[in-house]
Amino acid sequence: MRGSLIQRSCMVLVGLSLLCAAAAISSPAAGQSASGSARMWEQLISGAATLRLPTGFLKAMPPDFVQFEFDDLRTYAAEYHPGEHRMVLNRTLSFHAAGRDVRPLTTMTSKELEVLYHELFHAYIDYLESKESGGVLPGPEQGLIAFAREMQVCRYREVLITPVIQRSHETEVRYLSDPEAWEALNETWAVFVGWAIWNQLEIEKKGRRSMNDTAQLSGEWVSRFRRAIEAGEFRGYYAPQDPDERRVTQKRFLAPGSQLSLEESQRLMKQVLGLPEKIIEAAAKAVGQGKNISVGRPCQVEPS
Ligand SMILES: [Zn+2]
Repeated sequence: MRGSLIQRSCMVLVGLSLLCAAAAISSPAAGQSASGSARMWEQLISGAATLRLPTGFLKAMPPDFVQFEFDDLRTYAAEYHPGEHRMVLNRTLSFHAAGRDVRPLTTMTSKELEVLYHELFHAYIDYLESKESGGVLPGPEQGLIAFAREMQVCRYREVLITPVIQRSHETEVRYLSDPEAWEALNETWAVFVGWAIWNQLEIEKKGRRSMNDTAQLSGEWVSRFRRAIEAGEFRGYYAPQDPDERRVTQKRFLAPGSQLSLEESQRLMKQVLGLPEKIIEAAAKAVGQGKNISVGRPCQVEPS
């Protein structure tokens, strides 16, 4: 949905599921000043480094790309507005709830950090989209957006959805438009990134050591990844464009059969989560024999 005014709102529901809502917005609110947002960006990166959370993809973006705001979000924990590069965080995530500076990441709960990283990932995709055609992105970033475009066509153009979200075994096929497929990909990937952050934090809290340097802890992360894949947890949604379908529902959720593929998860583990190769290989091996992970189908992307 390049260039359109889209509001993405995320809320935490039961268990680990993180859902976002998309809706058209009409009036952009005033954001922090550019320098204030850049200062917050530096604070975010420094806090993330202290918590051993991924910072590489954040450092790839200019510090003033995302404009931060705080608001009393009642239903949602956070929102991201791609067209305006604007992130609205719940006021509870600000220092002393004053709505000026982001709270130190070290004071946030695992769930708050999951939501924050979910939104930060949307910001990263927004950044890659904004530079996609300029030929200015470094190789890894250009490679990731090119891979995302390939998946948009090859994987998210035809998906299985769950008409009733609580009944994940009842599915229907849908053929998605380009914006719908892009939204489904963006949300699916963000769900995985948020999941990875929450689980890393919980595992390191219990183990009191770095997951990446401790075989037992990284093994625990890999086991959780395998179980999540088996349960079909890595699924996004899209807002249907068809007016008839929109009358039925504002959002369609992908079914387990259309969850994140192994190849997509490996790309994200490497480039966004910055996981060591040995963990990525172990994760691939752990789910390799599973039935619930798609290996993808051969697909030709037509030149645009
Ligand atoms: Zn989202």
